Amino acid sequence: MAKHQYQTEIGQLLHLMTHSLYSNREIFLRELVSNANDALDKFNYLRLTEEKFKEEEWSPKINIKIDKEDNSLAVTDNGIGMNEEDLIHNLGTIAKSGTRAFLEQLTGDAKKDNNLIGQFGVGFYSVFMVAERVDVITKKAGEETAWKFSSDGTGEYEINPVIKDEHGTVIYIKLKEDAREFLDHWRVKEIVKKYSDHIPYPIFLHYEVEENVGEGDKVEMKKVQKSEQINEAKALWTLPKSELKDEDYIEFYSTLWHDSEEPLLWLHNKAEGSLEYTTLFYIPRTAPADIFRADFQPGVKLYVKRVFITDEEKELLPLYLRFVRGIIDSEDLPLNVSREMLQENRILANIRQASVKKILSAIKKLDDEKFDRFIDQYNKLIKEGIFTDHLNKEALLEIVRYKSSKVEGLTSLDDYMRRAGEREGETKQEIYYLIGDDENVLRNSPLLEAYRRADIEVLIMDDREIDEIVTPAIGEYKGWKLVDIATVDAPEAEDKEKLEKFSEEYSPLVEKLKNTLGEAVKDVKVTTRLSESPSCVVPDSSDPMVSMRHLFRHMGQEEPELPLILEINPEHDMIRKLQEIEDEKIFEESAWVLLDSAKLAEGLEPKDKAAFARRIADLLSRAL
Ligand code: ADP
Repeated sequence: MAKHQYQTEIGQLLHLMTHSLYSNREIFLRELVSNANDALDKFNYLRLTEEKFKEEEWSPKINIKIDKEDNSLAVTDNGIGMNEEDLIHNLGTIAKSGTRAFLEQLTGDAKKDNNLIGQFGVGFYSVFMVAERVDVITKKAGEETAWKFSSDGTGEYEINPVIKDEHGTVIYIKLKEDAREFLDHWRVKEIVKKYSDHIPYPIFLHYEVEENVGEGDKVEMKKVQKSEQINEAKALWTLPKSELKDEDYIEFYSTLWHDSEEPLLWLHNKAEGSLEYTTLFYIPRTAPADIFRADFQPGVKLYVKRVFITDEEKELLPLYLRFVRGIIDSEDLPLNVSREMLQENRILANIRQASVKKILSAIKKLDDEKFDRFIDQYNKLIKEGIFTDHLNKEALLEIVRYKSSKVEGLTSLDDYMRRAGEREGETKQEIYYLIGDDENVLRNSPLLEAYRRADIEVLIMDDREIDEIVTPAIGEYKGWKLVDIATVDAPEAEDKEKLEKFSEEYSPLVEKLKNTLGEAVKDVKVTTRLSESPSCVVPDSSDPMVSMRHLFRHMGQEEPELPLILEINPEHDMIRKLQEIEDEKIFEESAWVLLDSAKLAEGLEPKDKAAFARRIADLLSRAL
């Protein structure tokens, strides 16, 4: 007897499963069939690539056996199987990032957590919603020993060697008292039809019924064994679109990608030309939980002539489309294509390019409700694409959405341009934006004042981490230049005369401020971009540090301080008074307050917060 302890996180998951009130318990069967399907796929691939398996006579299938007397179900496949190490690794620990991400989202609130189970489908463990005990009897292809893994869904499991002829896996499920409904063959058939009709391998159901046999006086009730195939067993993507209904696509998606929500979109396409291939892509309604993890699970499976090759290649589609689920089935790749060769493969590169175009254009055509949902879930990834996929930059820029100083909700760049074009006397083709961490701070930024006054729209980009890298790299869109308003003069700065007059008048003040603030600012300037605020700070765009700052953050280092320019508003009362102050002490305090409050307005912190508070208190008590 070899007892093992589950990894703690699994204990947590099992607890949730065994105590779950989850109404949709039937999905355990979908998950087991899906695992069986994968195991058959993997063995099929071995037969293509390894000599020793080529000769074996093999008819891949999945069997489901109902045993009413024993209160049990058994799901059997003759796929790749598992050895002892695999059992510990696959069933005893959380190796999969998807499951880990699932656990991280658990709240402890039973209702919410139950919904999550439905959304993720946590694979094998979902069997504990219906099982009192589970035995996994399995033998790995090419190995001698078979193993039995037993668990009652508590903290421990056992693994022991057993005898088994064929490679593959039997999942034996001793059903809980309240899960007897799964002994009914109609119920099981219904579930398999619902979720697994179109997986490519046949599923057979074996059950016993009582029937009248004999004739006349000799009629007797007898138990009769029945066996029948209960699924279509045709790979869904090989069927013509005209034969497929929405439900078929949804069923296939939910089984293969463990998602109970209907996808936002699916795209089924057969290419016949110089390259022959079929693709079927889905976009999940809810972004997969692991898409922002380095170890995310790829969502696209590669097949060659209907034979599964891999589901571990992360770049069948460009990385920014890692939320897409689906199938690529090529007629032109050699069946023995090695997984290592895939990255440089020309045929795949062509399929990828055509697929991206199709996916992006389908996204553009989503109805409003779905499009909004798409943006809500994936806008960040679209931005990632703008930065990385130069070929499709324009299409991506048509999809991406931003907040704006002028409209509620989100806007497209095209709508921005249309509105800007409608402005009277407007000739400049420029798209203005402001980047920061906090929407509220951005909306109240003094930098916006001059634009508001001039009725010019500014895009509010509050996803700094990514906007700071992506937006400057856009450059132009349909002939319009993207302009960061923190790095250019304000729109009315053309009023050169006025500016010159003020600059001259205030040059003593500017000098005095420079002397007082010293290293804390790179420069002090008079500006006409402000109306309500006395001052603002802008980063010195000529300093290379400004554009390199995000690199420091991405390398996990502290960001260097921004070289800032303090701009003062000559028409503001406070500035006028400052010019006249004679008391050196008061001037100094006011100068620092001027700088620190301008920093605060941009969401930056004063260098010395205690001193800032003390100065404010000081100045206030004088004023009062
Ligand atoms: P997932 O199916 O999402 O990978 P599961 O918890 O369902 O997660 O399964 C974990 C792993 O256990 C699978 O990835 C697979 O390696 C292995 N496994 C499960 N069922 C089988 C099976 N019937 N045959 C072979 N391996 C299996």
